[in-house]
Amino acid sequence: MIGGGLAGLSSGVALAEAGLRVHLLEKRPHLGGRATSYWLPNGEHVDNCQHVTLGCCTNLDDFYRRVGAAHKIRTYDRLLFADAAGHRGVIEASPLAPPFHLAPSFAMFPSLTWADKRAIARAMLIIARSGGRPRDLDSEGGMTMLDWLRRHGQTPGSIELFWSVVLVSALDEQLGRADARYGVDVFWKGFLANRNGFRLGIPSVPLGELYDGCRAAIERRRGEVDLRAGVREIHVAEDYVACIRLENGKELTADFYLAAVPHDVLPALLPPAVAEREPVFANLRHLRTAPITGVHFWFDRLVMSEPYLTVLGQTTQWIFNKSQLYAMPAEQTGQNGEPSSSGQYLQLVISASYDLVPRSRQEIIELCRRELLEILPAVREAQLLKATVIKETAATFSPEPGCDRWRPAQRSPLGNLFLGGDWTATGWPATMEGAVRSGYLAAEAILAVAGDPRKLLQPDLPVERGSRWLVGA
Ligand SMILES: Cc1cc2nc3c(=O)[nH]c(=O)nc-3n(C[C@H](O)[C@H](O)[C@H](O)COP(=O)(O)OP(=O)(O)OC[C@H]3O[C@@H](n4cnc5c(N)ncnc54)[C@H](O)[C@@H]3O)c2cc1C
Repeated sequence: MIGGGLAGLSSGVALAEAGLRVHLLEKRPHLGGRATSYWLPNGEHVDNCQHVTLGCCTNLDDFYRRVGAAHKIRTYDRLLFADAAGHRGVIEASPLAPPFHLAPSFAMFPSLTWADKRAIARAMLIIARSGGRPRDLDSEGGMTMLDWLRRHGQTPGSIELFWSVVLVSALDEQLGRADARYGVDVFWKGFLANRNGFRLGIPSVPLGELYDGCRAAIERRRGEVDLRAGVREIHVAEDYVACIRLENGKELTADFYLAAVPHDVLPALLPPAVAEREPVFANLRHLRTAPITGVHFWFDRLVMSEPYLTVLGQTTQWIFNKSQLYAMPAEQTGQNGEPSSSGQYLQLVISASYDLVPRSRQEIIELCRRELLEILPAVREAQLLKATVIKETAATFSPEPGCDRWRPAQRSPLGNLFLGGDWTATGWPATMEGAVRSGYLAAEAILAVAGDPRKLLQPDLPVERGSRWLVGA
């Protein structure tokens, strides 16, 4: 198994539990791939970037339970929003049945006009009535989300302050570049089909600590996990993998091989003739990538009381109050679950951050700090002790219209090579849920070839009665 990101880990754990002996090879000194954290030389633990999940991510949820990490994810039933004018908005479920459960809080939402809200309600009804598959998307492939929203009369305010706010971070893409099917699916599964779909999950520990149980789950069944074990080459003979060669020169053989590395890494591991000849591998070059920028601020005092805020109409999209999210047990904390020391660590996240990529780190820090002054007035009095910018220029693949053509199934054209990764065909955009789905699908494919077929993929949350009725109506 090559790659210890979520795809490789979920597949490895599921296969080990099914009785296979797994040998997982990860190039870096830690597990978790893009969804991980690392230690700074000064001893601080920093997430590669804040990661969040939603209630509709049923496979990720299953994976966290398998590896004993579910209790390290804190669930928030109220979505908190802030705009530059200082307004705060809350979206939370009412007793109404889905798809109307969020409607009362949405009706009270500041920042949007009644014209915006009417337009959004109309589009939501189209999504709900079609069960997440509006007819104009079935018949016309390749439409962007922006085109779909304009076609359905969405106001500029609703696009900027609602649709973009949710979708740019869920898809890591701008609405004018994202396939409308992915965008519509987010609203159907997250906000309309089931009342728990929108619940926000945020790790209460550094990301790396979520994977502590993975090694144990694999080793318990006589498997191995090797870190700093980069694979250099996959040797192929007569359409089968013959062996893999590690960067340290060691050769390893197995009955089955899973390549769970990023899509732009895989072709370079294969013999050039195979990578060029097989469309599955050659087409990976068509998958484009999108950036994400994380900005870390350490202030000398408390400037924020909420655990996180989703920001409307600004460059900054999310502010995470890391001090509070990592809150220690009650006896060590002050009010609001803050550590009793007076400083505060915030992390800001900007998805599809194309405009920031060419800008200097100092410019980005100044831009984000200016925005914070409006959203969190206490920043005016606070001293910024330290700031860091992490630009991931190729954070995820871009879910642009037509990209599904280039996303391969988990069974490859080579008899004993299987593929995992958020970029494989899962029907999901590049997310932790997509990565785990790919891992489970790859494990199902391996077990089927091994003569022990099993179902690992978890079903979506059930469509609740009100939404079922509306789809049938
Ligand atoms: C900045 C950022 C923020 C994100 N935020 C979110 C979020 O909030 N919510 C969400 O759901 N998703 C988020 N994502 C997406 C999510 O992180 C990914 O979709 C998911 O982690 C991908 O998992 P993976 O296993 O497919 O790939 P990866 O995590 O990339 O794993 C691949 C692994 O293969 C290893 N590898 C590479 N080459 C070799 C080799 N030659 N030999 C051995 N090992 C090798 C790598 O080191 C890596 O560990 C974010 C991504 C980024 C970058």
